[in-house]
Amino acid sequence: MTEKPEVVPQVLLNNQVSARFMAENGFTLVNIKTNQIFLSDTLKSFGADGFDDFCAGLINLISPGDRSIFSSFLDRLKSGETDKAQGEFRVITPNGTVAWLELRIQVIERDEQKQPEVISIHDTDITELIAARDEIRERLVEIESLKELLISINQSLDFNETLSKVISYLHRLIPFDSASVQRLDDGILRIIGTYGYPLGSVEHLSFPIKGVDNPAARAIFSRRPIICNNVQDEFAGFQQAENAPTIRSWLGIPLVYEGRAVGLLALDSSKPGFYTEEHVRIASTLADHISVAVEHARQHTRVKEEARTDKLTGVANRYGLETKGEELFERARDQDEPIGVLMIDIDHFKDVNDTRGHSFGDQVLIAIAKGITTSLRTDDYLVRFGGEEFVALLPNTSTREAFVVAERLRQSIPEIHVDATSTCPTVSVGVFSGVPGTQDSLHEFIRKTDLALYDAKQAGRNRSRVWSPNLEQNGVARAHVT
Ligand code: GH3
Ligand code: MG
Ligand code: MG
Repeated sequence: MTEKPEVVPQVLLNNQVSARFMAENGFTLVNIKTNQIFLSDTLKSFGADGFDDFCAGLINLISPGDRSIFSSFLDRLKSGETDKAQGEFRVITPNGTVAWLELRIQVIERDEQKQPEVISIHDTDITELIAARDEIRERLVEIESLKELLISINQSLDFNETLSKVISYLHRLIPFDSASVQRLDDGILRIIGTYGYPLGSVEHLSFPIKGVDNPAARAIFSRRPIICNNVQDEFAGFQQAENAPTIRSWLGIPLVYEGRAVGLLALDSSKPGFYTEEHVRIASTLADHISVAVEHARQHTRVKEEARTDKLTGVANRYGLETKGEELFERARDQDEPIGVLMIDIDHFKDVNDTRGHSFGDQVLIAIAKGITTSLRTDDYLVRFGGEEFVALLPNTSTREAFVVAERLRQSIPEIHVDATSTCPTVSVGVFSGVPGTQDSLHEFIRKTDLALYDAKQAGRNRSRVWSPNLEQNGVARAHVT
């Protein structure tokens, strides 16, 4: 076996080169007793040159928040508990900024009293590493809270709650001034959720989406986010809400569900030049979840509306009366206002069916429902109460006013055309109105109206009658009212 030639790197043979190599790579050697020091470039740059007592000087170099932990770190070496210690410390640089150093200190020699005599320090500047680590940690926290948010969205059926959670979360990531979620219906964007606006200032505002100079329209049509960092100059058609701070930067993210634009997420800022591509990325991620919530809420509303609607006539049904009707009744009670109730029953409708056929009868019901709806105010609520009976709730309407409405309907209904040659039969109408007291119920109001209707029928039909207490004394009651 041939002996290996001994290879000695040139660097070790040249003291100058070795010293440069050590200094550049963060090595420091200190003889504590004699205060002989060989300094790394880093420690030198931090001003470690002029320490009379090296260890004390080193402690002063460390930023105040980390000094006590650094001292205990030195104490462990001094006590002989260990020969090696390693830690990450903040250091104040000569220009006042904070840098992070990883310091590995090793006792190389101890004196007879076991006190450290020669120590080596190896420093590494980890400022950038720490910044990157913090960034990752922040992202993890972000992901964690996003995960929580998404779980809570999936568990919540309350649309408004979902919406405010998502927007508040988004605000933690993008410090916009205000935001709104708008739903697109038939070419009109309606604000359905807001953040950062004074209560009642912009809710229920709506904007038609038209015009190339309107950024919302452009976001919807292109189904792409639009950043406007100087919105007044860029889009003449930008619509500001009145009474709100002037918007200078605007970010519009279209809400897209199954390829269709269903709305818009709009973020506002009073600062010009505010939004970045990073903001677009973050907002778009959450916009996907808002789209789902918006669409589910819309479907939920549609199903609820369908459940309340009478299939044949398109007006409300009994379930509508029990839900929306009760709401109107409660509102009248809260506002201490009268609510009028009409019960409209077609006269001799059975004969219509018998002579003209059931499907003609259906056409009559459709025509009458339509006629009553057009004749009533938008705040009034029309319900198909039973086969050929309708109930109309008239908010804020006195008995006298309700009677006028009843008579108007009674006179106009027989003039409604069912087809080219036939008009509708006559109707009888029962009328009642009152301010709901604490003991009153909608059911009771309807019962009284029904008594009045029965009175109208008994008096010969084709007339309106108002409820009066003597109808109760007569003991009239009709079997079909539940
Ligand atoms: P009155 O003047 O006393 O109210 O007599 P009427 O014939 O109108 O009253 P009655 O209660 O005897 O008959 C109501 C009729 O309404 C019987 C029923 O077949 C008819 N009807 C109920 N629902 C519908 C419907 O959806 N379509 C049609 N075509 N007829 C219906
Ligand atoms: Mg009838
Ligand atoms: Mg009837």
